[in-house]
Amino acid sequence: MKILVPVKRVIDANIRVRVKADKSGVETENVKMAMNPFCEIAVEEALRLKEAGHAEEVIIVSAGPEKCKETIRAGLAMGADRGIHVHADDRLEPLGIAKILKAVATQEDTDLVILGKQSIDDDNNQTGQMLSAMMQRPLGSYISSIRKNDTGFEIVREIDTGLEKLQIGSPAVVTTDLRLNEPRYASLPNIMKAKRKPLDTRTPDELGVDTTCRVEVLEVNDPPEREAGIRVSSARELVEKLKNEAKVI
Ligand code: AMP
Repeated sequence: MKILVPVKRVIDANIRVRVKADKSGVETENVKMAMNPFCEIAVEEALRLKEAGHAEEVIIVSAGPEKCKETIRAGLAMGADRGIHVHADDRLEPLGIAKILKAVATQEDTDLVILGKQSIDDDNNQTGQMLSAMMQRPLGSYISSIRKNDTGFEIVREIDTGLEKLQIGSPAVVTTDLRLNEPRYASLPNIMKAKRKPLDTRTPDELGVDTTCRVEVLEVNDPPEREAGIRVSSARELVEKLKNEAKVI
């Protein structure tokens, strides 16, 4: 089995995000970037499937500017076999990314695509769903467990009412939830080894994909400042304020 893991380069989750002065987006110049956390979980799960003998190859793919290669190398340092960078300097939206991933997954003839459920920068939660529909492959979204079996994959999804266990055929597309696994750290020797692993570059044009955006970003603003809290001296005062000031009870 060949597994494709799409990873997105995002602002590091520990960094405070700043909106650009012209409100066209958020500041990414000289800001620490990292692999989207849900994509790290996806890489980890692909590696575990390979280590369990279910996969021969784990391929990392990332679409975006030149710097995405660093994110791909991070996946290679975790243990993936090779990388594909789809070079695109313009803004990409989920539909364009799903088209790129479909082209790569088809070219590479992959049996399983494991995506993150969501990228933490744009919070789209769309790419995996679009990819499965476009490839007409079964989708297992928000998975907290995956097991390979004779007819495909047994997956568990966390839903409001508990855990849902499903069987999906192969080839398939799945998206990772937080509790699927805890990603490993790359060791120093593996970081060095990753520098020599193959990393191909392609472009959307070479893949025959039109990535023109259909959604225009009008303005990006900071969330409203939170007002300072107040301290009440008794439960009676709290109830009085909730009733008469906040009017929530
Ligand atoms: P989203 O739909 O943007 O929330 O992203 C969901 C998942 O799609 C991410 O966790 C990645 O696995 C994948 N993805 C999103 N953007 C990219 C990208 N530029 N390159 C590769 N994979 C991506």
